[in-house]
Amino acid sequence: PFSVDVVPQAPEDPLFGLMAAYREDTSDKKVDLGIGAYRDNNAKPWILPVVKKADEIIHKDPEVNHEYLPIAGLAQFTSASQKLIVSGDSPAIKEGRITSLQTVSGTGAVHLGALFLAKFYQKVYPKTALYMSNPTWANHHQIFSNVGLSLQSYPYWHPQTRALDFDGMKASLESAPDHSIILLHACAHNPTGVDPTPEQWSSIATIMKRKSHFPFFDCAYQGFASGDLAKDNFAIRHFIEQGFELLIAQSYAKNFGLYGERAGCFHFVAAPSSDAGERTKRVGSQLAILQRSEISNPPAYGARIASLVLNDKALFSEWEANLRTMSGRIIDMRKALRGKLEDLKTPGKWNHITDQIGMFSFTGLTEGQVAKLRADGHIYMTKNGRISMAGLNTKNVEYVATQIDKVVR
Ligand code: PMP
Repeated sequence: PFSVDVVPQAPEDPLFGLMAAYREDTSDKKVDLGIGAYRDNNAKPWILPVVKKADEIIHKDPEVNHEYLPIAGLAQFTSASQKLIVSGDSPAIKEGRITSLQTVSGTGAVHLGALFLAKFYQKVYPKTALYMSNPTWANHHQIFSNVGLSLQSYPYWHPQTRALDFDGMKASLESAPDHSIILLHACAHNPTGVDPTPEQWSSIATIMKRKSHFPFFDCAYQGFASGDLAKDNFAIRHFIEQGFELLIAQSYAKNFGLYGERAGCFHFVAAPSSDAGERTKRVGSQLAILQRSEISNPPAYGARIASLVLNDKALFSEWEANLRTMSGRIIDMRKALRGKLEDLKTPGKWNHITDQIGMFSFTGLTEGQVAKLRADGHIYMTKNGRISMAGLNTKNVEYVATQIDKVVR
């Protein structure tokens, strides 16, 4: 008979544990470099001004109510999300080759894609594994293994150069069995902050095409990385131009600051063919069944905000300015941290801090150094030496650099 005695105690989520430890620290010097959420220069959460505006418009709208959304979500939101991901003039949209469902933020989109692959892709290729970068966002491991997909990894981070292990990655894509599923971060790779260059993306696409690999893009930081929406989505657009059939998980947590509102979207893009429209519709019908059994229909509020902004020219330009504010502050903090470390002549090279992009930097600090920074400096970061650049500001960056200098020496 079943007894809960068979249920072992699960470990605490490392990131949420880190947040709790930070909250309990009473030092006035404490710095939170763990949290994956944007902070302004006063270390406070930032509501995007354009989101505030959209919020006011929604509150004044007498037509807004609390009814259910359709299973696939708010239609104006999913269609605007398609345009944002692949660009408005993409043939994939014109040819009806994309089907999109609103999801519970990026996590929900990754999960819906995982379910779809487990149910349909794995039937055709039962031995196929999903390859993820080493390292990757920790939750990827759980999301994909929970649906029964087998997991493999490809090299990504090169500890010596503190940059992309491009040769290792290519060799792994070459040696993976044909038709493997390859999970790719569209931009601002989490946790390393290291992205392939456009030329490297092009080589990756060439190998994957030859090997008939199946791409799954996780896009959690569009516009948040460089401040330029098109530049951040180069990889996805390039793969679509190359005629791949692929999946995309899109999150609005970071680029709209809608973390807790759970606004996201899942897209299936069919390869070009005479029956692509019909195939896309079939996929959409199956995704609707998966969605219905998982969440019935998605949460409305965050999608209403994003939809309003995405579909209005003036609000859209304001959003782009807000994106430049966030990405610009982060890029400034990269320069400041690197500059201070170089001024202090901290042993080692620190160029990787400004070479990396997006929310995170993989510093190369060891687990021991991370523990020392926490114990002596009240500076909190994940054990792998990842820091959230958004936790730095003009008031604490010098302190952080000095403490890093101390533990590295
Ligand atoms: N993928 C990656 C790579 C991420 O970094 C994140 C956010 N930490 C997500 C997906 C999903 O986040 P959310 O569910 O909050 O949109």
